Amino acid sequence: MDIKDIDCPGYERVVCAKEDDFEAYVAIHSTKLGPALGGIRYWSYWDDKAAISDVLRLSKGMTYKAALAGLPLGGGKSVIINRGMDRKDVWEKFGELMNHLDGSYIAAEDVGTTLDDVMELSSHTPHVASLRSGDPSEMTAIGVVSCILTCLSVPASEATISVQGLGKVGSMVAEMMANHGSTVIVSDINEDTMNRFANNGFITVGTDEIIAMKSDVFVPCAMGGIVDVRFLDTTGSNVICGSANNQLFSDEIGDELFRRGMIYAPDFLVNAGGIINVYHELNQDYDKNSALSMVSSISQTLINVMQKSKMNMIPTHVVAMEMAEERLNG
Ligand code: NAD
Repeated sequence: MDIKDIDCPGYERVVCAKEDDFEAYVAIHSTKLGPALGGIRYWSYWDDKAAISDVLRLSKGMTYKAALAGLPLGGGKSVIINRGMDRKDVWEKFGELMNHLDGSYIAAEDVGTTLDDVMELSSHTPHVASLRSGDPSEMTAIGVVSCILTCLSVPASEATISVQGLGKVGSMVAEMMANHGSTVIVSDINEDTMNRFANNGFITVGTDEIIAMKSDVFVPCAMGGIVDVRFLDTTGSNVICGSANNQLFSDEIGDELFRRGMIYAPDFLVNAGGIINVYHELNQDYDKNSALSMVSSISQTLINVMQKSKMNMIPTHVVAMEMAEERLNG
């Protein structure tokens, strides 16, 4: 396999591995606070530029996520371009790449990968997490729900929530908020998933409609870059709080959102439940209660960020970045 380093200023290491249809990128943004931990995204990228841009943004986000959550971990991420290869072959090749990196990057699951994939990968490399703690999505969902509840200005039982993306995290968030008595509007590109939710009494709307639905909180649980100018002009919600990584199309959009009086719960703060859960299996016997107790502190960090934002008239994404940087540089 051809493995090459790519020079990316601001990143400790970025590598590309290619062989026939296999093409993968690993970005290690920072190991300042600890080994770089991050998921493997398996996605049909349009081209290598899109894959590289995603892995760079995602790995940097992981550094800030771990720092803000108070974890002794660095930030890394990997992406594999989905070209319909046999999955077993994909994990064999990716394992070779992981071994080449010799433990400086620890992999877990992400969009397009499952616990079964991670199990398969672990037969080729030891640098894999989430085998003992299991799918981190439930902890991520618990953290997201605690933040949604924090953002609400009405009781949960009187709130309407719109959830975009009903995958591992979004489906649990939708169900948990329904259990809190909220009216939950949902949308997904997968028709079977939509039918399942419609049959369970959820309000289902098309992927083009979900953003404009009138709701107390818009909950992005699909892909990143969703919050752009068009979103700001059409959204039916004043609050954004969900699990998707890199929700803001740009930092400027975060500033504009703030100017318009909207509330944005920073994604890398809100969705830290998964990495907190994975961290709890790394150097110790996995204890779900201890992971849960740390996940429950996420909403307090959000309260601190929102208070600082209001007091100093600074957008929440800037406050959260500054708090993470304080830890990184402290
Ligand atoms: P997933 O792949 O299980 O789910 C994503 C869902 O979004 C799928 O059901 C897909 O059909 C749907 N989708 C894709 N494009 C859509 C669109 N335009 N409109 C509506 N639905 C769409 O992924 P997941 O693990 O649930 O993660 C969701 C998001 O949360 C991702 O951005 C991921 O990076 C982030 N995240 C997940 C975790 C975790 O623990 N799983 C942790 C942190 C962050």
